[in-house]
Amino acid sequence: MKAAVVPSVNGKWEVKEWQTPKAGPNQVVIKIHASGLCYTDVHITHGVIPTQFPRVLGHEPVGEIVEVGAGVTSRKVGDRVGVGWVQKGCGRCEWCLRGKKELCQSAISTGIGLEGSHAEYMLAYADATMLIPDALSYEQAAPIFCAGYTVWSGLRLGDPKPHERIAVVGIGGLGHLALQYSKAAGFETLAVTKSKDKEKSIREMGADEVVEDGAKLLGAGGADVLLATSNSWAATADAAKGMRPDGRVVLMGVGPEPLNYNPELMFKRVRLMGSSQNGPEYLYEALDYAAKGKVKVIAETYNLDDISRAYDRVADGKVRFRAVITMN
Ligand SMILES: [Zn+2]
Ligand SMILES: [Zn+2]
Repeated sequence: MKAAVVPSVNGKWEVKEWQTPKAGPNQVVIKIHASGLCYTDVHITHGVIPTQFPRVLGHEPVGEIVEVGAGVTSRKVGDRVGVGWVQKGCGRCEWCLRGKKELCQSAISTGIGLEGSHAEYMLAYADATMLIPDALSYEQAAPIFCAGYTVWSGLRLGDPKPHERIAVVGIGGLGHLALQYSKAAGFETLAVTKSKDKEKSIREMGADEVVEDGAKLLGAGGADVLLATSNSWAATADAAKGMRPDGRVVLMGVGPEPLNYNPELMFKRVRLMGSSQNGPEYLYEALDYAAKGKVKVIAETYNLDDISRAYDRVADGKVRFRAVITMN
């Protein structure tokens, strides 16, 4: 099969012939139709998140099952599926026993412990696959498996109450979905961004207000929940100046610099919460909103042969919202 292979840390992505996977027990092989390119792929390429190279990255996989391994009963050939980040825990640690495999220190993840989805075929554990609603296209579905799943998990963890206000900082791959999910769930939603050129599309996505920093956010009434999806922790710390008392800052983007915790947050009793993909019920809900057309991915699509151009644009921050790789 054809796959985008990263040869080494900081290596140049190259599309080449690669071994087509075979399904082992409890596994399936997915013919990939679309694969989202997440900024985390850049972190992995740079060695910030360790894996073994050479490696096929990609953790927003969607496609159809073409082979099922021994013991698989819940999935069949022809099923339309996608796969999240954590596929399988060790099954033995405290967090696995509590049913929270996403917190397992020995978890096997898509594109880390197993080859990822920037390829014609991908192997996955059958239990890690999620059926995709019929109404949702592959291109729309792919980014839900990391970006959408992550931000909807974060919104649910932030636990906004009726009448509370949500702000989103960092309106990129995750953030453009975060503000649509917030609107779909009925919350007054503010976007915090310095990208003036994005303002029009941000308002079209439903933002009630667009402000450029935390001071302006506070001036606009502040936020009870801040969905922090920016790759800059400086931007997150600044936006947090706009928090209302008893607010919650939900961290979903990793920045290179330390996170500067403003002491004012302590006196306002603002909570900082880490969040990632917090369990399949949130993936189910995230897909359902997308299938109902309440959340729309804004994607640039690239053919697999052209993936290194897509990667460079993601790495340089030139992709406005999401890059999606298609295989045909
Ligand atoms: Zn991701
Ligand atoms: Zn475990």
